[in-house]
Amino acid sequence: MNTQLQDDLEPTVRIRKLERDRVNFVLGNVDLAFANSLRRVMMADIPTVAIDMVEIEINTTVLPDEFIAHRLGMVPLNSSNCDEAIRYTRDCTCLAGCSFCAMMLVLNISCHDDNTLDVTSDHLEVIPYPVTEDEHMPIHDDPGEEMSKRGPYFGHPVGKDDPDARPVLIAKIRKGQELKIRCIAKKGIAKEHAKFSPCSAVSFEYDPYNKLRHTTYWYETDIKAEWPLSENAREEEAPRDDEPFDFNAKPNKFYFEVETDGSLGPQEVVMKGLAELQNKLASLVLGLKSGADLDIPEPVHGHMAEQVWDGGNAAGMGWNPPAVASTSWTAATVASSSPGRGGAASNGWSQNNDSPMGGGWGAAPAANAGWGSPNPRANGWNM
Ligand SMILES: [Zn+2]
Repeated sequence: MNTQLQDDLEPTVRIRKLERDRVNFVLGNVDLAFANSLRRVMMADIPTVAIDMVEIEINTTVLPDEFIAHRLGMVPLNSSNCDEAIRYTRDCTCLAGCSFCAMMLVLNISCHDDNTLDVTSDHLEVIPYPVTEDEHMPIHDDPGEEMSKRGPYFGHPVGKDDPDARPVLIAKIRKGQELKIRCIAKKGIAKEHAKFSPCSAVSFEYDPYNKLRHTTYWYETDIKAEWPLSENAREEEAPRDDEPFDFNAKPNKFYFEVETDGSLGPQEVVMKGLAELQNKLASLVLGLKSGADLDIPEPVHGHMAEQVWDGGNAAGMGWNPPAVASTSWTAATVASSSPGRGGAASNGWSQNNDSPMGGGWGAAPAANAGWGSPNPRANGWNM
């Protein structure tokens, strides 16, 4: 395996299976950290709508109010195009929710039958958000284009009126029992509450033969019999029994399985995940770039780096200002003496060409502007 060649390759995606609520794909030519970032972003950073406030008018069921409110919160709601179709309430001009940043759902059901009645997500009805007083004002200077970006089922419980989808059970009621509830759904991400996660499961596997020894298998007698290979092993070459361990090998192919709860389609989850990752890194690049414009004092007594880095020892050990300004403060010395910051910076930033997203991101020029300046005096950082 020619690692140099591997590094030069563009990232690849091969979709193996795509269904309504799941996608299975192989991500190639990226490193483990990138694959894991994508997994985490898809789980925790993609906005959806979910019921966030519940007003219970009548509850004569056997379940307490809190119990029902929690179950309602977990009901997946159709959130397609959530980025554009609804605002975060915190970004909205209203005081506590309006038609641009919230959806209203009602549940109004009672049992008059001798049989037990299942109250499910199919009984939740979306109603137009009532016009509040504080909404009158902003509406004039605020066209509220969000509304036009909503699909017909936006905010509706997933699978409502779909004979192929089983609804979510909320409570069971008997004759004479009643539920009358008003719910307000808002936009959020899973970092705030797990109910906002569009994914029920995201996983990836790599190195099915465990050539890299990232896993230690426990076994009794026969490791091969007790640990059958996964399906993904077919994608890779089996190691020879006498193959020596390659210390320099790195995982290169990741077998992803993304399963959604239906609030977003699997394509949307993956695409939004990548876009979100891009945004995060872009704001990091921007932050570093603007940091370079700060008025950082000229290194005079060799203590400048202490102020900037708070590490101190990177500069403290043998940093001789005139020499540093010319040549000796290299990435290698910074990385070795200050692993916390210097190491990360040198690994992450000095390899723009190897980075999977180096090409289309504009990361490299920004990084150069802020970090890789040829003149260390310009900003106090030279990688
Ligand atoms: Zn609002």
